Amino acid sequence: MVERVECLVIGAGAVGLAVARRLARAGKEVVVVEKAETFGTETSSRNSEIIHAGIYYPKGSLKARFCVAGKRALYEYLKLHGVAHKNLGKLIVAASPDELSQLDQLIAFARGNGVDDLVKLTPAEVRAMEPAVSCVGALWSPSTGIFDSHGYMLSLLGEIEEQGGAIAYHAPATGGKVMNDGIDIRIGGAVAMTLRARMVVNSAGLYAQQVAKSIAGVLPESVPASYYAKGSYYTLSGKPPFVRPVYPVPEHGGLGVHVSVDLAGQVRFGPDVEWVERIEYSVNPRRADVFYAAIRHYYPDLKDGALQPGYCGIRPKLQSPKDPAKDFVIQGPREHGVPGLVNLFGIESPGLTASLPIADHVAALLGIA
Ligand SMILES: Cc1cc2nc3c(=O)[nH]c(=O)nc-3n(C[C@H](O)[C@H](O)[C@H](O)COP(=O)(O)OP(=O)(O)OC[C@H]3O[C@@H](n4cnc5c(N)ncnc54)[C@H](O)[C@@H]3O)c2cc1C
Repeated sequence: MVERVECLVIGAGAVGLAVARRLARAGKEVVVVEKAETFGTETSSRNSEIIHAGIYYPKGSLKARFCVAGKRALYEYLKLHGVAHKNLGKLIVAASPDELSQLDQLIAFARGNGVDDLVKLTPAEVRAMEPAVSCVGALWSPSTGIFDSHGYMLSLLGEIEEQGGAIAYHAPATGGKVMNDGIDIRIGGAVAMTLRARMVVNSAGLYAQQVAKSIAGVLPESVPASYYAKGSYYTLSGKPPFVRPVYPVPEHGGLGVHVSVDLAGQVRFGPDVEWVERIEYSVNPRRADVFYAAIRHYYPDLKDGALQPGYCGIRPKLQSPKDPAKDFVIQGPREHGVPGLVNLFGIESPGLTASLPIADHVAALLGIA
């Protein structure tokens, strides 16, 4: 049996939910299908929950544009909907003289993206803010913040349902076919069925390539290769030595093992970068050595045995470990030739921060005002 729906969103992570909310608020009939038992169980709940300022990304890239616009939109959204957040700011620290030039590069990158509020700090100024940090210089990013990503997704979900949208759990998209009057998507689970949608948004995160390839009529050449870079976190026992996020200068594949602080003031370190072959969420306890070494660059008082393995997330990468970083890839009909389909690939950091402008962009690709 084929049921008809106007818009089908595959994947209930922060991005899928932001897209579904955008489409529902535009008056569209929206159904979200999610393979897991609830929303946001993958990358959207396995991250640092930082509202990024928009410092690191090449000028004009989707990451830069959507991060800067997303930061403003997200602060506004969180305030309006009463979702917990704090505009704590963050420090980016140079641990040795050879890292100082990277701070200047970051200022230039940030300016290119319209982020003009970075301030250079001396080691004494940093010590006054975060006495546990050892550095030769730092940048202060006042617009960075932290937020409750679960509360954000819950709020998006509430809005979708208020607008008449529906969400189905245990409902994996298992394949499909491009038809003359829409796209058929087979849904597995206990009540297997086929949905014919006029518009399909594939926001399946780490599985987006697999979903795109399973739709007959989507050119396989239009689907980019996928790679996975695990990022693990370690927690710190004892009294938190930091009150705000502290980042080292960025490394290849990630932003460096940083300090994040949650809304309760607890500190965790991470994520590192570990290229993996498959999606699997165990934290390798042998990575502790990498953490101790990385953290002691800027926090030399870290005691042996103070770190405990925490959780991990996996970055949906579009490039191999040898290649330079790639931008988000958001393909509409112009890119892949299928009317009504949008594929979102490589939505790694700053995907949470960027989620609201990503949703606007998807709506525009579908011709929705
Ligand atoms: C370690 C780490 C740290 C990060 N830190 C930050 C940060 O501090 N700030 C920030 O802005 N961003 C951060 N990010 C990025 C951010 O977490 C992601 O960009 C964002 O969560 C992606 O959301 P998503 O909805 O695209 O993907 P996901 O959250 O992965 O959602 C995809 C959903 O699709 C579902 N799904 C998959 N296949 C199917 C199918 N066949 N049928 C139905 N459903 C399916 C999955 O179950 C999942 O729920 C971080 C990422 C990582 C990995």
